[in-house]
Amino acid sequence: MIRERHLLGPGPSNPYPEATSALAQPLLGHLDPEFLRIMDDTCEMLRTVWGTTNSRTLPLSATGSAGMEAAFVNTVHPGDVVVVAVNGLFGQRMTDVAARCGAEVVAVEHEWGHPVDVDRVLAAHPAPAIVAAVHAETSTGVRSDVAALGAALRAQGSEALLLVDAVTSIGGIEVRADDWGVDVAYAGTQKCLGVAPGLAPFTIGERAFERRVEEPRSWYLDLGMLGGYVGEAGVQGGQRTYHHTAPTAMVASLHAGLARVLDEGLDAVWARHRAAGEALQAGLQDMGLELFAAEGSRLPQLTTVKVPDGVDPAAVRRELLERHGIEIGAGAGAYAASVWRIGLMGRNARPDTVVLVLAALREVLGRG
Ligand SMILES: *Cc1c(COP(=O)(O)O)cnc(C)c1O
Repeated sequence: MIRERHLLGPGPSNPYPEATSALAQPLLGHLDPEFLRIMDDTCEMLRTVWGTTNSRTLPLSATGSAGMEAAFVNTVHPGDVVVVAVNGLFGQRMTDVAARCGAEVVAVEHEWGHPVDVDRVLAAHPAPAIVAAVHAETSTGVRSDVAALGAALRAQGSEALLLVDAVTSIGGIEVRADDWGVDVAYAGTQKCLGVAPGLAPFTIGERAFERRVEEPRSWYLDLGMLGGYVGEAGVQGGQRTYHHTAPTAMVASLHAGLARVLDEGLDAVWARHRAAGEALQAGLQDMGLELFAAEGSRLPQLTTVKVPDGVDPAAVRRELLERHGIEIGAGAGAYAASVWRIGLMGRNARPDTVVLVLAALREVLGRG
């Protein structure tokens, strides 16, 4: 038996109990009418969580990184200029993925720990095909203002598609894809949605779909072919066609997790994440620790904290895991040894979890 962990790193988080129970239900075939109903319902709930009416909203059968691949491989035509706002590891990864799809990448580098500077992104190129940014940079704990980026692109009369990584944001902080002018976005299940890793909620609007690559290099992630898989209206009369075997157990689990989130209400879920994150950040500072992410742009669901001088960061993480069953994350990239990452995502965004992790850290650091 594996002892239960408190998963308080950058993901996966502990799933909502409803999402875990759903995994134990009888397995359905991927064309079973009961499963198709669950899939339709899941896509509908995803629209609510994304804040979109996009008909092409579905869970891709792979993790968040496949969402990133799908976003670029379906929208980048060879030679397209893609402006990527880079303020952490996942922005960096976007530049790699876009380049592999044949983009002429214009990376707008930011200091890690700071949000995306909308003016610099807009000034990077006069007419990009795509502008891409990470909403919640899990590597640094920073939130960027996607609403402002979308508004600025519109104000400029830009034709660029806005492509957004919302892996760590959905289910944790406000996301309003349509209001913000987001054309393509992807997420993951194992962060704030509180479901095990394995699916990538994805949404693409009409304008982006019309401009898509007809025969993308990826067969598996070809959105044109995936239409039939989710019974998209108008595609073969809404009939389901076999494309790949839907991971039916994972979709049932996502269905249950989304129902749990929407039952609580998105506003309440966001407020719960905000309260937990603020309490954690205040508690860490009370302990004399310093936060890494710039004030005013700190994510509540992922807190980055500087490792104090003279402390072995890996030893602290090991102690937390061995003695308290608590997993926290190391820093990312150049900050691997100087920053810890503490996630309060989904089910873990609760006052008792805050108290638990603060007490354990205080004990392990000998500060209490
Ligand atoms: C976790 C994460 C990803 C990658 O998702 P995987 O599920 O690990 O493939 C991409 N972007 C961000 C912001 C993430 O936090």
